[in-house]
Amino acid sequence: MRAEATVDLAALRANVEALDSRVGRAAVMAVVKADAYGHGLLPCAREALLAGAAWLGTATPEEALALRAAGIGPDRARVLCWLWTPGGPWDEVLRADVDISVSGRWALTELLAAVERTGVPARIHLKADTGLGRNGCQPHDWPELVAAARRAEAAGQLRIAGIWSHFAAADEPGHPSIQAQLTAFREALAHAEAQGAEPEVRHIANSPATLLLPETHYDLVRTGVAMYGLSPVPEEGSPADFGLRPVMTLEARLASVKQVPGGHGVSYGHHYVTPGETSLALVPLGYADGIPRHASGCGPVQVAGKWRTVAGRVAMDQFVVDLGGDRAAVGDEAVLFGPGDRGEPTAEDWARACGTISYEIVTRIGVRVPRRYVHGRAGAVPGGQEVTP
Ligand SMILES: *Cc1c(COP(=O)(O)O)cnc(C)c1O
Repeated sequence: MRAEATVDLAALRANVEALDSRVGRAAVMAVVKADAYGHGLLPCAREALLAGAAWLGTATPEEALALRAAGIGPDRARVLCWLWTPGGPWDEVLRADVDISVSGRWALTELLAAVERTGVPARIHLKADTGLGRNGCQPHDWPELVAAARRAEAAGQLRIAGIWSHFAAADEPGHPSIQAQLTAFREALAHAEAQGAEPEVRHIANSPATLLLPETHYDLVRTGVAMYGLSPVPEEGSPADFGLRPVMTLEARLASVKQVPGGHGVSYGHHYVTPGETSLALVPLGYADGIPRHASGCGPVQVAGKWRTVAGRVAMDQFVVDLGGDRAAVGDEAVLFGPGDRGEPTAEDWARACGTISYEIVTRIGVRVPRRYVHGRAGAVPGGQEVTP
């Protein structure tokens, strides 16, 4: 193997169980958008359901349809998708019995036309913009959207299965937007319920809110990053502090090891020059594989037990580390990130080095990197074994 991402499904399962026990009577929606944050849609969705998640959440309708096409039926999981554009696959999603987020009148109009065409009534979640300013219905448009949805519900065309919203800054405890959004959410809910809506689920909590704000759990929490064992609030606590374990480990085999003299430029632009005679190792992963080019000169890599730093620029397919004269052999393992318990860097270390968030580090890992699914790390965890997804 050149490089691979190991996905520990036992860790994923334990993370979902930990989140589920944290939220009491609220249900857990495993957010598996973006190929399960780079971890693999189907294996992660299946494992999350085994661990007790009752819902799966995706951004696009295509992601939701992929779950149904793989045999994850409505008897096993309710699925919600929330990022619609005009002309979306309304008919297919209705026939697949997938819940649909509705943020505005245009979506309701297209959806009702599809209900007419297919004869299948919809299950919708009305989304309120309580302050994020992204998707969702503004308060001044809410009464009209609710009224239209209620008319369609009375006509048997749809069911208002959910009412929901999304936080802007749940990862910043004490941020004034949190209470403001909760107030706006309560008002949106009260209005819809006064108009006769009887949602099965009211939901607003993402991972940070699930971990830090119990009053936001309502009937359902939508957890993404925490399920993959990463802390959404690294300033507040590490994954272990929240009972979570990182799921993905990214490793590669050194493709070259060689001695070079001092003063030798390394990689494009020669932004690194060897300070003296040294050994250089080549890691066969680059920005085409999702290694941020911003990791040039700063990304951490464990080689032969020691932390090294990306030397010079990250290229499309490869980058170099200076081993400082230490010996290594072609084929030796380089660990970019993992849970951290073998002394390796974590996705959070990469995020800090690159000025981003751990979400982006794992989600970016490209299709050229094969995912290998294990249940516990063989050798490290009793009963650890390889599994076929
Ligand atoms: C991605 C997403 C989530 C999950 O967010 P995390 O912080 O990863 O838990 C929840 N809700 C919506 C609407 C999202 O887009």
